[in-house]
Amino acid sequence: MKTITILVPAYNEEEVLEQMYSVLVAVCNRLTNYQFEFLFVNDGSKDRTLEIVKQLKEKDSRVEYVDLSRNFGKEVAMSAGFDYASGDAMIIMDADLQHPPDAIEEMIYWWEQGYDDVYAIRKKREGEGKLKKLTSKAYYNLLQKVSKEEIIPDAGDFRLLDKKCIEALSQLREHSRYTKGMYNWIGFKKKEITFDADPRAGGETKWKFSSLVTLAINGVTSYSTLPLKVWSIVGVVISVLGFIYLFIEIMRTIFFGNAVAGYPSMIAGIFFLGGIQLISLGVIGEYLGRVFVETKGRPLYFVQETSEEKKKRSKEMTSKQTEQEKIESVGHDKWNS
Ligand code: UDP
Ligand code: MG
Repeated sequence: MKTITILVPAYNEEEVLEQMYSVLVAVCNRLTNYQFEFLFVNDGSKDRTLEIVKQLKEKDSRVEYVDLSRNFGKEVAMSAGFDYASGDAMIIMDADLQHPPDAIEEMIYWWEQGYDDVYAIRKKREGEGKLKKLTSKAYYNLLQKVSKEEIIPDAGDFRLLDKKCIEALSQLREHSRYTKGMYNWIGFKKKEITFDADPRAGGETKWKFSSLVTLAINGVTSYSTLPLKVWSIVGVVISVLGFIYLFIEIMRTIFFGNAVAGYPSMIAGIFFLGGIQLISLGVIGEYLGRVFVETKGRPLYFVQETSEEKKKRSKEMTSKQTEQEKIESVGHDKWNS
């Protein structure tokens, strides 16, 4: 029998977790041809989330959990899920029931038809403000324009991934993560289905506006170097215009003389160029900051504890990591000698 892992990253979800679990189980119990694993990644919750998961585990042996040592954010919590999943396929779902478990059956159907990545597209977004909808739409338009890879708007993390995809994703260890872009980057056969996003079943959204902005910037800078190039082009254009202006001024002074004018235009020029320079420095800083974070080569997350079944995998993971380190250090020696 094939096993399907349901991955649920959870951060302070005590209010909805039990409800989510019962809806999920109701759907999964109908699909008798498959074995399920419910993998909860507790992303450093400060409430009773972990306790609730442990209680669920006592009643239901299919429940597994990985408890991260602090809050690392959803993107990293999902990557922990990719590392610890043991199913032949995985379905990623939010804990707040915004992703309807009813879609699971359809996803599995397409997976059996040979698709590796069955992603669900939001048809309507209930319970989200006008501003969030509007900015999200504008953002996806921008992202599509600046990046070479196709990024599908409204396709979130609600999707089924074949084992192949999970293995591929767990090899992408970058820290400024934009998982939505990664799904496309790894490739494999994709299939689109649609669903209606419901409002949160309880609790509050865990995204602060600032973290959405960070995620948005990661989206652009991880998938495109256009922001780096644009400023050199703008710089060239402005310098050429400045040169032409200078030439005109010189001619005018020669032929018509010069009263002490031009103070406002000079100040305007200084401010304008100063602004452009600061922006371009900022853009370089964004990329440099990412290089800085990646060169530290830190692990993506640490695990506080896991359920019994997952302990074995923990060991596997650490031995795999040390192997990787060995390979890297051999690489270093080669360069050093
Ligand atoms: N989440 C997480 N770590 C975080 C923030 C969120 O694991 O730091 C989880 C959260 O528990 C939920 C999912 O990510 O299962 C989506 O979060 P949320 O519903 O708050 O986001 P929204 O639906 O508003 O975009
Ligand atoms: Mg939500």
